[in-house]
Amino acid sequence: MSERLSGLRCALCKAVGYLVVDHVRGIASCESCGQSALVSDGEIERAGA
Ligand SMILES: [Zn+2]
Repeated sequence: MSERLSGLRCALCKAVGYLVVDHVRGIASCESCGQSALVSDGEIERAGA
């Protein structure tokens, strides 16, 4: 199960709207540059709730 985070910006490539969070794995990945990162940001937790 994953969800696109339309309002968040990728820290690496600065693209907005390409971040997709995987709630099962607890990671967010960027579909623009392909990078992924662990989700520890409160904003992402609120977006998924
Ligand atoms: Zn990116």
